[in-house]
Amino acid sequence: MSSETLDRNAPVIVVGAGQAGFTVCSKLRDLGHSGPISLIGDEEQPPYQRPPLSKGYLLGEMTQERMLFRPLAFYDQKEIQLKLGTRVEHIDRNRREVRLGDGSVLPYGYLVLATGSRPRVLNKDQGGALDGIYYVRSMADTNKMAPEFKPGRHVLVIGGGYIGLEAAAVSAKLGLRVTLIESAPRILQRVASTETACFFRDLHRNHAVDIREGVEFATLTGQDGRVTHAHMKDGSVLAVDFVIVGIGIHPNTELAQEAGLEIENGIKVDANCRTSDPFILAAGDCASFPWKGNRIRLESVGNAIDQGEAAARTIVQASDGYKAKPWFWSDQFDIKLQIVGLAGGHDSAVTRRLSQNALSIWYYRGEELLAVDAINQPAAYMVAKRLIEAGKSPEPKAVADLDVDLKSLLHS
Ligand code: FAD
Repeated sequence: MSSETLDRNAPVIVVGAGQAGFTVCSKLRDLGHSGPISLIGDEEQPPYQRPPLSKGYLLGEMTQERMLFRPLAFYDQKEIQLKLGTRVEHIDRNRREVRLGDGSVLPYGYLVLATGSRPRVLNKDQGGALDGIYYVRSMADTNKMAPEFKPGRHVLVIGGGYIGLEAAAVSAKLGLRVTLIESAPRILQRVASTETACFFRDLHRNHAVDIREGVEFATLTGQDGRVTHAHMKDGSVLAVDFVIVGIGIHPNTELAQEAGLEIENGIKVDANCRTSDPFILAAGDCASFPWKGNRIRLESVGNAIDQGEAAARTIVQASDGYKAKPWFWSDQFDIKLQIVGLAGGHDSAVTRRLSQNALSIWYYRGEELLAVDAINQPAAYMVAKRLIEAGKSPEPKAVADLDVDLKSLLHS
């Protein structure tokens, strides 16, 4: 054992009871870790899935109970000490202790930071302090917003990323009038290709969502403290009943930064999820990690699970290095988008279209397949995932040819 490695059953404290934090704890037990494990989260609910907050849960189709990863009894069974409604305020790296919001101090062997991220918010000058403005990050956020969803009301969605588009789709399904504004020239500018963005723009417009791209929002104004109007930089004004803001997130790095850990677009970790302190690891939305000679940070369930598992393996000394296998999904109206890989840097794209609403878009850099967006095409997603994981790149011509069976590409 090196001076930077502890006993494989050393006490572990995990900060943040979200997807990554939950995964670290349950994986540790799966791997036979028998020491004390504490999972400390500042939300009131036991760890739950976040994606339905802008999908099924917002639609009212899922109960709170179904959102939980596991019932409360699981934590007792696994001897995971779950502390909810509690913030970790400070890390003392010399003493290897954390201080909680209630003033108590807990010692750790390993500390895992799984603090996630938080929405970017509108500032006071933009009218951000008015009532009737909502963000979609937590169950509490969605619960607070739910009474606003009454048919015929007008909701303005600010931001054309996945969360804004999903919230717009739910609002339209519930009979609201929806306007979505995006300041970039197109929706999904940061996260998806032009092809995929065009598909979703058409989808929304076909469901009467008023999508306005290249429109810069200036300020919200209101009456009696509640939002009533949105003013754009071009001088146009919209009367609104309420506003949903989805303009991106900030990784929660402050706790790590204050403890002197290295930060680089997130808490900087190596391929084993270790931060610049060998006894502190990080995983999920808050962590940036090495990827193909660069450093990236992903905001997805798949990444939070894979990194959470990798952090657990590092602690029990079974690490095989974290190799990200990015995947993502989004549900809007009756469309399921599944993405595998990262399309950034692609120089060509080929579309395999089965019908108007069933297609896949394959992204290449040179001859290398980088990523695939599968729209109502689970079979294409599965094949693409296996190809990308195996480092195989089928000929674009074969991909576009509907006479070629997709599965045959696996053996080419
Ligand atoms: P989080 O889930 O954010 O958990 C971090 C937790 O740590 C939070 O509870 C936070 O309050 C807590 N915390 C922070 N600081 C402290 C502290 N000091 N003390 C105690 N607790 C603290 N991903 C997909 O792949 N597909 C989707 O369709 C999808 N849809 C989404 C829809 C919505 C509305 C949202 C919000 C996210 C969606 N995501 C989706 C993203 C995905 O949910 C996140 O990437 C994932 O939850 C990240 O997990 P995490 O554990 O890193 O962070």
